[in-house]
This record gives sequence, C-alpha cells and structure tokens, in this order.
Amino acid sequence: MSVRPRKQFAQHWLKSEKALNEIVKAAEISKNDRILEIGPGTGNLTRYLLPLAESVVAVEIDRDLCEKLAKSLGKTENFLLLQGDILTLDLETQLANFPQFQNPNKVVANIPYNITGPILEKLLGKIAKPATKPYDLIVLLVQKEVAERLYAKPSSKAFGALSVRVQYLADCELIYSVPAKDFYPAPKVDSAVVRLHPQIHYPAENPKFLDSLVKIGFAEKRKMLRNNLKSVVERDRLTQILEQLEINSQARAEDLSVRQWVELSNKLMQEGTRQNAEGRSEEGFYN
Ligand code: SAH
Repeated sequence: MSVRPRKQFAQHWLKSEKALNEIVKAAEISKNDRILEIGPGTGNLTRYLLPLAESVVAVEIDRDLCEKLAKSLGKTENFLLLQGDILTLDLETQLANFPQFQNPNKVVANIPYNITGPILEKLLGKIAKPATKPYDLIVLLVQKEVAERLYAKPSSKAFGALSVRVQYLADCELIYSVPAKDFYPAPKVDSAVVRLHPQIHYPAENPKFLDSLVKIGFAEKRKMLRNNLKSVVERDRLTQILEQLEINSQARAEDLSVRQWVELSNKLMQEGTRQNAEGRSEEGFYN
C-alpha cells in the first residue's frame, strides 16, 4: 500500500522494524490491555499491536488514510478505527456502543509532532487538573528534543517548565533513540521513544498555585528564583525559605526537582502569598 504522506498532518511513516519492536516491547502489552493509538497512519504500528492486545482503538484524522486502513485492517475483530481529531474527539461518547474498546488502559503511538504539547495535556491532564482516570502506561514516539525535556534531571540543560509539568504527573523514561532516516519521509529532527507512567508522587496542597508558581519561576529562566518570584514573595523571605527547604538560595527555576517545587509551593501557600500568584495561571502550560 503506498500513500503519499501529508505535511499538514505531520505524517512520517515509521519504517524501522527495530524501532517498531522497541515501542511494542516498552508497552509491555498483555491480552488484558486495551490500547489507544493516536495517528495509525498506514497501520505500521497497529499491525504490531493487534496480535498482542485485547483491543486497539485508533484515532486518525486523515479521511483518505482511514478509508485505506479500514480496507486493510477493518475486518480484524479487535480493531476499531475512529476518524477524527484526537484533541477534540470525545472518546467516551464515541465508544459508547463498543464495550470491547471502552476505557483503554494504555496509549501507544507515533504521534504527530506538531501537536505534542496538546496531546500530552490530553493524556495526562495538567498540574491544576490531572487526568481523572490516568492511563497505566503511555509509550510515545516524539521529537528527540521534546523527549530530552520529558526525562531531564534538574539542573541539566533540557530541564524546563515542560519537565516540571509532565514529571509532576508522570514518571518519564527514555526507551530508544530513533534516527530521522528510520521514517519516510525523514523528518528534520531525530526522534525518541519515551515511556510515561502516570503517577503523582508529591501532590501539591494547591495545584493551581503550584502551576502559577512554575510559570512565573520559569518566565525568565536564567534569573535566580529569588528575583523571578519577587512578585509572589519578598526576596529576603524567599532566601530564608529556600534555606529551610535545603535549596541553594541562588537557585534558578531549572535547579528545583518536582518535589522541591511542591515543597516551595506548599510553604508559600502556608505563608498566605497565594493571592499574588493566582490569576496568572491557566493557558499555555505545555509551551
Ligand atoms: N503511526 C504511523 C503514522 C505516524 S505519523 C507510523 O508510525 O507510521 C502521525 C499520524 O497522525 C498521521 O497518520 C496523521 O495523519 C495523524 N494525525 C495528525 N494529526 C492528528 C490528529 N489531530 N488526530 C489524529 N491523528 C492525527
């Protein structure tokens, strides 16, 4: 089957058997697993998933691809194809008449890179509003640069607001690097398979406040926190608080682990500084 990839939908077919195997292996699929796949494309990955899982529901935006895929895989009993935009489609409603596919517990996908942030938010929720029924496991092929931010450790170059936001909600690990040449057409950048295990280890007392704090803290990444957070807490007071929390008083936003962000947020909440930072939250968490 040859289908011309469309740029508009960020279509890059994964050709490497090795990479496909690594994705499937990382997902640790058993016969009880119900998988959600985003962007099946020509079904390269889908074909690996179907024999292993109880069921696979795949959401694909491209009508022409859906037609082709329906022809080739449509008769497979444990496969359901939904045509639509993963960001707006209401999966629960769509699956109302398909009990075998309801409540998928894992996500496995080679996603369209142009909407990585919104997809992460759709799957994990956000600090202020975590997913109510989190997935057991999420295995994604993403742009390498994004992957590096997802599993970055504090004080490393890649550690940023995205790292804190995602790592608050999930454990993230690098599984396998995929060079651009493993795709057709080759994207401009290399890719990597990451595995996310949704889990909140350190719940914040006020997640909305934490969300705002992270945003303000990272607004000017290179400045020290005590300068960046001036609008939230007085400089000298913050220095004291950081010392109490055993954080270097000259720390920058990128130096704090998720646990330290939560501790700082809780401490500031107790100090009643909340009003200062709220109202700045909402939109743009996954930028
Ligand atoms: N899984 C395939 C294709 C990956 S390319 C493979 O590995 O070869 C990304 C796929 O996501 C394309 O098929 C594209 O049409 C689809 N896609 C792009 N935007 C989408 C959206 N908003 N919702 C669902 N699918 C989308």
